Amino acid sequence: MNNLWNDEEAARLKARDGELGLRVYTSRLLGADESLVLAGGGNTSVKLTEKNVLGQEVELLYVKGSGWDLATIEAAGFAGVRMDHCLNLLELPELSDAVMVNELKTHCTLASAPTPSVETLLHACLPFKYVDHTHADAVVTVTNLADGEARCREAFGDRVLVIPYVMPGYDLAKYCAEVWKRDGRADLLGLVLLKHGIFSFGEDARQSYDRMIDLVDLAEQYLREQDAWEIPEFGQEASPRRASLEIASLRKAISDAAHAPMLLRSNRSQLALAFAGNENFCSAYERGTATPDHVIRTKGKPLLGRDVSAYAEAYEDYFQRNAAKCEGGVNLSMLDPAPRLVLDPELGLLTAGRKVADCIIASAIAEHTMDIIQRTDALGGYDPVGEHDLFLMEYWELEQAKLKTTGPPPVFAGEVALVTGSFSGIGKACVDAFRSRGATIGGIDLESADGALDYLPLVADVTDFDAVEAAIGSIVDAFGGLDMLVLNAGLFPPTQRLGEIDDETWSKTIAVNLDANQRLLRLCYPFLKLSPNGGRVVVVGSKNVPAPGPGAAAYSASKAAMTQLARVAALEWASDGIRVNVLHPNSVFDTNLWANGILEKRAEAYEMTVDQYKRRNLLQEEVFSSDVAEAAAEFCGPRFAKTTGAQLPVDGGEDRVV
Ligand SMILES: [Zn+2]
Repeated sequence: MNNLWNDEEAARLKARDGELGLRVYTSRLLGADESLVLAGGGNTSVKLTEKNVLGQEVELLYVKGSGWDLATIEAAGFAGVRMDHCLNLLELPELSDAVMVNELKTHCTLASAPTPSVETLLHACLPFKYVDHTHADAVVTVTNLADGEARCREAFGDRVLVIPYVMPGYDLAKYCAEVWKRDGRADLLGLVLLKHGIFSFGEDARQSYDRMIDLVDLAEQYLREQDAWEIPEFGQEASPRRASLEIASLRKAISDAAHAPMLLRSNRSQLALAFAGNENFCSAYERGTATPDHVIRTKGKPLLGRDVSAYAEAYEDYFQRNAAKCEGGVNLSMLDPAPRLVLDPELGLLTAGRKVADCIIASAIAEHTMDIIQRTDALGGYDPVGEHDLFLMEYWELEQAKLKTTGPPPVFAGEVALVTGSFSGIGKACVDAFRSRGATIGGIDLESADGALDYLPLVADVTDFDAVEAAIGSIVDAFGGLDMLVLNAGLFPPTQRLGEIDDETWSKTIAVNLDANQRLLRLCYPFLKLSPNGGRVVVVGSKNVPAPGPGAAAYSASKAAMTQLARVAALEWASDGIRVNVLHPNSVFDTNLWANGILEKRAEAYEMTVDQYKRRNLLQEEVFSSDVAEAAAEFCGPRFAKTTGAQLPVDGGEDRVV
């Protein structure tokens, strides 16, 4: 375990926010190490005395607000809760978690404070200024053994109190408060919570942080002594085998089970493939998560293999069985029964989610859990918290609240669009328009662009079949499939009359504007067919189709042929639920076609100013790339769910078209 403490950085944050600044600092140190906390897990606190507006001194517990991630937390991420009220709450014989959270929220000093962590009262009952809580890999490896309690004593000696598994929330805090009253000692360094994680504490930020690192180190050393720490080193190089259609079929089945489009991210690292190929490890993973709150990210068990409907049926049984055991269980409504993790010997690890970030979080949790399971193998096997406890966590209203976002999901949530010519102009505008509606994008262009979680730009020439096929494979690996295709990449050759047109210009124009798109349609068809909401294609045509221009023979002919191809696709693919529509933009001047003085020359030829030339349409409005992109996105959205084979001008009105 690395101790990341740095005097300068600590001093900088202390100078900015005082003691709370140091709390921010060591929280970030914990959050920076994925072997300590993952995906917003863990929580921290500091007890401070402050004067209120009446000048009275009040003791406050600044505790991590729910929804904040330790890695990136700011001072505003801590809620200041009145300590006296916290301690009074712990005196009650019982309290529901919903009421507890309400009490905590209404006893904060700031109306704008985030909701205090559900583990606030546990922090309050420990009589130390700083308290740190993580789900460290090494610790949960030891605590997820059948004889975890005895192992903890071997690993930590009498430096910690060992707490049996109790559901987090009021009951756990109350339990710990009582244990502390009975067995608490000033020389203790922390609490180890079986099948859950670890708390450390201290009188200053550094002491509490150092103790966390030291305790996790003890667990690590213990595992080394037991010959359980070293697991086979696997490189991260993915297997070259691509099984794009198998992945897309799996994604379709998962989306159908979830009743919503889901992304599916592949991890074919050697670790994932080796683990997924080991029946022993896989069935161990079916026993549950390494710490209970992972259940909201990964569900209780992975899907082994590809039978999604069997998984969904088993999930429904699990729900019925466990809801029946709960007081008020009849009022629970079942979450979607689709898996979030898949382990398949050929495909490796796949993680499902409505957003890329959810897939990445689930993948990180799974990677750490796979390490943990392999380490427990030498010590009698993996024995995590049982099914019913996981159920209580999964259906705990406070956990579900963490996942709630405000309002309905964006229209393209969980969907993937492929845009060609995505680097600039209409293509770039399409990337923006589809992303703003929640789509995840794969872009193809000759030029490279900066990617993001939800945007994978790939460099490929659309006329290079192998490169395009590889790009589609990369998109399917990253996101699971293809739902929408925007055929935008195109070539506008220099003006040439028919009498002078050269073969090369002609062939190249046809190759880019027609042949490449025909191949893209063919390559994408099997994926579009597997789109959970039905595939959609938008072809960027041209005003030149209904109203050709002299000197643009190759361009006009290629776009007209492309339009005809789109109409045939609309006919052939309607029975597959795929919609194909065409846009005919005109005079979109914010694209590369018009750079380098071409626009100025053209305006001059018409004896107009550039501005007059740009507005040379019925509405006398300039047409922007974003106008075309918005139309493309709407064509793919629910408003045009009943439209296929349509051609829509986006040209400000053109008398030769109207
Ligand atoms: Zn916890």
